[in-house]
Amino acid sequence: MENYIAELNDAQRAPVLHKDGALMVIAGAGSGKTRVLTYRIAYLMYQGIDPFNILALTFTNKAAREMKSRIASIVGGSEAKNLWMGTFHSVFAKILRIESDKLGYPSNFTIYDTQDSQRLISSIIKEMGLDKDVYKYKQVQNRISSFKNSLITVKAYFNNPDLMEADAMAKRPRMGEIYNEYCERCFKAGAMDFDDLLLKTNELLTRFPEVLAKYQDRFRYILVDEYQDTNHSQYLIVKALSDRYQNICVVGDDAQSIYAFRGANINNILNFQKDYDNVTMYRLEQNYRSTGNIVKAANSVIEKNKSRLDKVVWTANDDGNLIKVHRSETDAEEGRFVASSIFENSMQHQMNHGDFAVLYRTNSQSRAIEDALRRKDIPYRIYGGLSFYQRKEIKDVLSYLRLIINPKDEEALKRVINFPARGIGQTTVEKLTVAANHYRRSIFEVMSNLDKIDLKIHGGTRRKLEDFVTMIRSFQVTNQNADAFQLAEQVAKQTGILQEFKKDGTPEGIARMENVEELLNGIQDFVEGQKELADAEGSLSEFLEDVALATDLDQDTGDDDRVALMTIHLAKGLEFPYVYIVGMEEDLFPSAMSMNTRSELEEERRLFYVALTRAEKQAYLTYTQSRYRWGKLIDAEPSRFIEEIEDHFLEHLTPPVSSGYRYKPMMDDDIFGPVDKSKFRTTKPKQGTPPSHHSPSPEKLKKLRKLRPDLGVPKSNMTDNQALNELEVGVKVEHTRFGKGEIVAIEGFGNDKKAEIKFDTGGIKKLLLRFAKLTIL
Ligand code: ATP
Ligand code: MG
Repeated sequence: MENYIAELNDAQRAPVLHKDGALMVIAGAGSGKTRVLTYRIAYLMYQGIDPFNILALTFTNKAAREMKSRIASIVGGSEAKNLWMGTFHSVFAKILRIESDKLGYPSNFTIYDTQDSQRLISSIIKEMGLDKDVYKYKQVQNRISSFKNSLITVKAYFNNPDLMEADAMAKRPRMGEIYNEYCERCFKAGAMDFDDLLLKTNELLTRFPEVLAKYQDRFRYILVDEYQDTNHSQYLIVKALSDRYQNICVVGDDAQSIYAFRGANINNILNFQKDYDNVTMYRLEQNYRSTGNIVKAANSVIEKNKSRLDKVVWTANDDGNLIKVHRSETDAEEGRFVASSIFENSMQHQMNHGDFAVLYRTNSQSRAIEDALRRKDIPYRIYGGLSFYQRKEIKDVLSYLRLIINPKDEEALKRVINFPARGIGQTTVEKLTVAANHYRRSIFEVMSNLDKIDLKIHGGTRRKLEDFVTMIRSFQVTNQNADAFQLAEQVAKQTGILQEFKKDGTPEGIARMENVEELLNGIQDFVEGQKELADAEGSLSEFLEDVALATDLDQDTGDDDRVALMTIHLAKGLEFPYVYIVGMEEDLFPSAMSMNTRSELEEERRLFYVALTRAEKQAYLTYTQSRYRWGKLIDAEPSRFIEEIEDHFLEHLTPPVSSGYRYKPMMDDDIFGPVDKSKFRTTKPKQGTPPSHHSPSPEKLKKLRKLRPDLGVPKSNMTDNQALNELEVGVKVEHTRFGKGEIVAIEGFGNDKKAEIKFDTGGIKKLLLRFAKLTIL
């Protein structure tokens, strides 16, 4: 252990060795906060603290896994397995399953993902006969989410005239009713949405003192990474659990608080000292991640924010290169620049593709970058797009599986009741829904009792409904004797899903069928993997929970060598030698939606600080002079954030264009004001400054069309592209279940990359590489 302690500087060592009590580490980017947390856990274990008594909460499950493996390398693997580590959502979903009966939920409750919640909200809006242009489902969902994250229950809502008035002002007076109906429908469906996982945990800990006592006693040491982005609901959970022993260690950086729009509350950091007795504060100042130029440039940007804690960040690293700034005419050209630059850097400096990241403000910007990378055969991976599990065909199969586990799950049922088509029409489903709402039962229960209810459904349809119920019941019987893979395979075949895609015959249909097959492979791998663990059995519900809570980052096995494309929000906590921040333009970054108040603008600036501080060796800032947005070509101006960096840190690769913007400090003085005013953010539509729509001259348009030959062509799908990593044809591999074999073909790309493997046992199997657990021999 001493050797490991020597890997820390003095300032880091102090919080690691700190004895019991509350401690907080506030420090700038790259100063080793996450490292301190990791080593502190290892040190606690080294001192004899039982890992069962340690709870660590991280931003992604991937971060938790990495921390665990680091700790395992310090104190030994078997003990580290027993740590409670993960995101708030995954840790508390586990606890809720154990305690669900107290809240009236089945232990096999479904977790509704965002899509499920949105579908449910849409149908409620429709059933209530409301105007869907006024009651936009996404806005309604945001609003409900912010209620839940502020612990405003339906009852609390109706007791709060201010909230009701705010909704009435936003022309949505019936928000409360929707909220109520949404909660009831989720409950009836035995389902919790993401926010419920926190809300219900709070309810559990408040209503049941004996449960609280049990978990307070279990989690004697609690550690939280990225504390600046916890919301009120998470704050209360941490506070409640740590109240008895007060062994709480939080690390964070107020300058990296970037989730206020989702309810993150910076006051959680500011009030920490008031919340616990005898808090020890630690500061770290030395950045180990980035070059001198990057650190100094980032400091010069964040200094422009008024609302911040004073912090010093310096580095002993070399100054390194200047930050490179590049201007292009269009986003297609920007993409080409990024692709060529990655290519050149990887050649010149012998870098791997995994050493590069392209960061953007909004997901839609990835398209131009993707196109360019693809043309240069540079393998990449997009994080945060439509994940594998959200594809239609995958959700269809998963919905059957969810329904088998929890027949009350209405969103799952509605998805599959008539897929593949079995002659159960929309009118029938509506009749069933009305009856279900009337009797306060689930649709499946109504379907199982058709003989007792007069529904005016004629004999033919009635039989179809009965057949459906019988089919689901038979799957439930299978589920008792078979593992998740066997069941899923039976479902895919017997429901006719596979057949449906096959018969479709189009390339899309075939791709869908293959995806379903890959899902089955994935489930198979999961089952095998789980069986090796003592406390898991590879059950279907475990798989579904894993899927529901998996974020895109979690799917990253880290062993594939691809350029990472992601939004800045997702990049928090990560680091890459080369970072390209693209779309550095006014109205895009800072976003037009976030320039109404100073606090919004400051959040954008913090976002830029996060982006810049991801880079270890080299940062690039790129912008274009015109860009297609909302279907129109608009003139773009360089982002003010470029100008906010002191010029001597920049190297202009192209002649700079001034935005005409000069940084001027704003005069009003509401430090932390907007955060303090209310714990509650309303979601009333923001009056975003619309970007200027200068129509380009016909000449310019013509030129642009030449530059953008893809104009007007629909977004292309990923094409085949042999990824340049180690898994290639001819490589010998070993699979956990199928044994040894050789890769005979590779196809697909990114998330879809597949390998055809000829196994020594004789069989040839096609495996989706994101799932397949292969060892290279
Ligand atoms: P962020 O604010 O971005 O989350 P952080 O404060 O959590 O950053 P870490 O990710 O823990 O910082 O550390 C940044 C990098 O510096 C990592 O690569 C880490 O391994 C390295 N590092 C931290 N402390 C030391 C040290 N004492 N000696 C050598 N390397 C260090
Ligand atoms: Mg960190």
